[in-house]
Amino acid sequence: MARPNLNRAEFVKSAAASAQFIQSPMPRIAFAGKSNVGKSSVINRLLNRKNFARVGAEPGKTVHVNYFLIDGRVYFIDLPGYGFAKVSRAEKERWSKLMESFFTGKDLYDLGVMIVDARHKPTADDVTMAEFFKSTGADFLVVANKLDKLKKSEIEPNLRLIRETLALEEDVRLIPFSAESGAGREELLGAIFPE
Ligand code: GDP
Repeated sequence: MARPNLNRAEFVKSAAASAQFIQSPMPRIAFAGKSNVGKSSVINRLLNRKNFARVGAEPGKTVHVNYFLIDGRVYFIDLPGYGFAKVSRAEKERWSKLMESFFTGKDLYDLGVMIVDARHKPTADDVTMAEFFKSTGADFLVVANKLDKLKKSEIEPNLRLIRETLALEEDVRLIPFSAESGAGREELLGAIFPE
């Protein structure tokens, strides 16, 4: 897929239930990550925007699947964040239900991009999310965000820990990234839009 014009992005819709998920012959890239990992910042960095995908979304207001159309030919799907400390049981259930319907749905995305924090061992919720991505058979890759917060010597061991904890197959790409500095942007775009 040739790279679309990333400066041409529009919000399409917010889906709160499976009936609203978008069926489309166009490629759809699904982004997931725990709250505060920088999912909005990564999307904004890819699109050269500051405040497009919302940054710092409020806990409890994010159990939606948001669709953005890029250049009229690729969808970015922003899956709801997880792992909020203070979220109610009802909200957690809404998240699980929506994610289950998304990941068991037929042909709802083409490539998964899972975002984790480069500084930390992935959480149990991250492991669950990785299992969702593995379960569909669609390709997925992992982005280790906030790379700018690591010392050089921490990068390799942290990436190894992430790969091990998420039990990633060797062919699953793990891309070090910084939404802050832009490091890894070209590598990620190359993985999403191979020439
Ligand atoms: P989301 O909840 O996953 O959408 O996370 P946000 O995009 O709202 O980011 C959460 C916080 O992390 C914000 O304060 C961002 O400025 C910060 N942040 C995101 N990405 C990076 C990064 O690569 N490096 C650093 N240092 N901070 C980041």
